[in-house]
Amino acid sequence: MASEHTVDVVVVGTGAGGLISALRASHHGLSVMVIEKSANLGGTSAMSGGGIWIPSNRYLKDIDVDDSKEEAFEYMRALIEDKVGDDKLKTYIDLGQPMLDFLMANTQVQYVPAPGYADYYPNIPGWKSGGRTMDPSPISGIPMGKMLYKMNEAPITSKAMGRINMSILEGMQILSTAPGYKKIQRGIFINYLLDIVGRLKGKRDRRLTQGNSLVGGLYLALRDRGIPIHLNSSAKDLITDNGQITGVVIERDGDTTHINVEKGVILAAGGFESNQEMREEFLPQPSQTDWTAAQHSNTGDMIKAGIEIGAATDFMEEAWWAPVVRVPGQKSAIALFNEKSKPGLVFVTKDGNRFMNEALPYNTYGEAMYGAYKAGEKCIPAYAVFDSRYRDNYMFGPILNRQYQPDWAIPSRLKKGFLKKADTLEELAKQLDINADGLVETAERMKKFAETGVDEDFHRGEDDHDRTYGDPKVTPNPCLGPLDKPPYYGVTIYPGELGTKGGLATDCDARVLNQAGDPIAGLYAIGNCSASMMGSKYPGAGTTLGPALIFGYAAANHLAGNQPN
Ligand SMILES: Cc1cc2nc3c(=O)[nH]c(=O)nc-3n(C[C@H](O)[C@H](O)[C@H](O)COP(=O)(O)OP(=O)(O)OC[C@H]3O[C@@H](n4cnc5c(N)ncnc54)[C@H](O)[C@@H]3O)c2cc1C
Repeated sequence: MASEHTVDVVVVGTGAGGLISALRASHHGLSVMVIEKSANLGGTSAMSGGGIWIPSNRYLKDIDVDDSKEEAFEYMRALIEDKVGDDKLKTYIDLGQPMLDFLMANTQVQYVPAPGYADYYPNIPGWKSGGRTMDPSPISGIPMGKMLYKMNEAPITSKAMGRINMSILEGMQILSTAPGYKKIQRGIFINYLLDIVGRLKGKRDRRLTQGNSLVGGLYLALRDRGIPIHLNSSAKDLITDNGQITGVVIERDGDTTHINVEKGVILAAGGFESNQEMREEFLPQPSQTDWTAAQHSNTGDMIKAGIEIGAATDFMEEAWWAPVVRVPGQKSAIALFNEKSKPGLVFVTKDGNRFMNEALPYNTYGEAMYGAYKAGEKCIPAYAVFDSRYRDNYMFGPILNRQYQPDWAIPSRLKKGFLKKADTLEELAKQLDINADGLVETAERMKKFAETGVDEDFHRGEDDHDRTYGDPKVTPNPCLGPLDKPPYYGVTIYPGELGTKGGLATDCDARVLNQAGDPIAGLYAIGNCSASMMGSKYPGAGTTLGPALIFGYAAANHLAGNQPN
């Protein structure tokens, strides 16, 4: 027999969008309950960089960046498919600052613009060289108590030495070895060691950064307001009456509960990246659940529940694409963000040929890898190959550059199942089971390109985006280097993602639309549960959490009758 409860609003999912919508609804005086399927808090949002893309934010002037709503619109409109209406883009731009003000006034999370974190498409009018992407400042996780240990952790590649949290800005300085980076490194290391109580409890760093800072800060604000969060509670179905959403069916430990809602339900239950059946139905093929860098309880449940009651969907074939590697011992795949642009590395097919500009924005990998695959290239999987010069200077996935992690210090599970190493390219090709002649020819061509600074095949390093992630110390092209210093290394890569993009169609208030384009009363969807308002594009870092937060804020405002504050 199902038990029953009644609240104004149920939020399904504890990603950043779900949590801010709960906080905002409570701020408006509504009673709220948050439901989370997994045993952990924060979804992929907690694992993320926590970066949000807020064009024309008021802090840009502090870093001397001129921006305007008009320029942001021009940039977004030129990029994003027309079926995402002008009104949606304008709502995003208009609500960015108010959402940020609310977040910063009501939580400990404080955002600062990231100078030098350029938008991803430099040739589009309205592009900015940095600052629209914002970084959450570190906060203390100590007040979270035991809940800290239930919050999803960032991947090992987002932390110093795979363990110590660092903000985006700290990470950017350390990775680029910019002046002062050693001081930052020392500071976070000493802070970690001096947290004696934390060290006695385990490895987990209690100084929260990136997605942990965002989710941790939101969690603390919800807790202070007494908003209940129920972990291990899975939303199963939506209850409707005469076309109006009246509640949700929840399952917990085999028990079923009906939660009735006076106002509505906000679906913030992520995408369908961990549902193999849906991947096969909607995404380009081949495609596997273990190629996702997201966490694993996003199985499209609420997208399916919405479809069942007549909701429309969009962009179901799209994802927040990225090249990924499968690392033994890690549940989620690891996305390659910086590695791909550095000199001395190529991505090749089974024939040993390059097939794309490796330095392209990570989201463009979907189009590039599947496009080349359809055109007959054997590039799924593909193979990252780099030489010793690369290994000396840059990290690759979980492996740090040689100065911090010599080959002998690479754990044997990585040497066995992940990283191939050989004294010659021919021997490496044999280990990777790819064509040796093709690989040797590729290396010869790259040597020539490195000398001239021109990638005649794929134009790597020709635009600002590529160069931002290259190595400025390398000339004439910061993204091009020879592969000629043995030993050589190789790793298998896949067209993975940070989550899927397709979901329920929504309007500017995040209301879910039916097939006729009309709102379904009482139903809202945000984050990857909703059809991406960025279409197939990724305008800049923070354009997945940005919409989740902004439309979570908008949904709560609408539920409360659009009160001014
Ligand atoms: C390594 C990494 C770094 C990233 N960095 C950034 C970044 O800096 N900026 C950015 O914008 N994006 C970033 N992303 C992408 C971003 O994190 C995700 O797109 C975003 O977090 C998705 O938010 P969401 O709310 O839709 O889903 P999630 O944050 O995953 O939250 C969904 C929650 O819903 C729960 N759920 C699912 N089904 C149910 C159900 N039936 N009942 C109850 N609960 C349910 C899930 O368990 C999950 O906790 C990154 C991703 C990765 C992997």
